[in-house]
Amino acid sequence: MRIFELLDRIPDILWPRRCMFCGGRPEGRGTVCEKCAEKLPFIPADNKRFPVEFTAGCACALRYEGGVRDAVHRYKYGGSWHYFRHFSALMAANVAARGLEFDTVTFVPTTARRRKSRGYNPAELLARGLCRRLEIPPPEKLLRKCRETRQQAGLEAAARRANVLGAYKAARGADIAGKRILVVDDVLTTGATLSECARVLRMAGAEAVLCATLAHSTGRDKNS
Ligand SMILES: [Zn+2]
Repeated sequence: MRIFELLDRIPDILWPRRCMFCGGRPEGRGTVCEKCAEKLPFIPADNKRFPVEFTAGCACALRYEGGVRDAVHRYKYGGSWHYFRHFSALMAANVAARGLEFDTVTFVPTTARRRKSRGYNPAELLARGLCRRLEIPPPEKLLRKCRETRQQAGLEAAARRANVLGAYKAARGADIAGKRILVVDDVLTTGATLSECARVLRMAGAEAVLCATLAHSTGRDKNS
């Protein structure tokens, strides 16, 4: 065994791998057990994209329910940042199967303060993983969040729109004009955040905006 392979296995030895959806033991080197891999609530790639204002729609890979909801919650709030690898692979398969056409990829930003306190931006990691899987250049930081917002979870649709209105700006020096831009986020609920980001991009001259998220929530779940 080469030294690199050994080093690569050390985390598995110290922290036995658990299925990210059910907590069971996955076979082989995966992070998802066979049972969950088969039963994930996939949204078929031939389904229509979900409507989001100012965009050509949002491609979502999974329904936000059961084990997916719990895993996303651990990913966003529980420090399980490494889930981005499998999540972005699921997103990449969905984006590729739908044949989405875009010039560049970006992500919903957080404030610098929020990113520092959490240590990572879940949407940014998904965008990075997605680009790597699709073998395209890494995402560009085209937007910045200029003020803190309340957590969208638990807010009604109108309150969500008000909450994010004016919260995003084009990043300084961002190359947006004339581009078809894919914006990545973790969960689509009412689309308030993504449509606000899209509005800013369109105002800055983007030719078109498409969205991709890992999951789609109907909003009935108060945690989404
Ligand atoms: Zn499982």
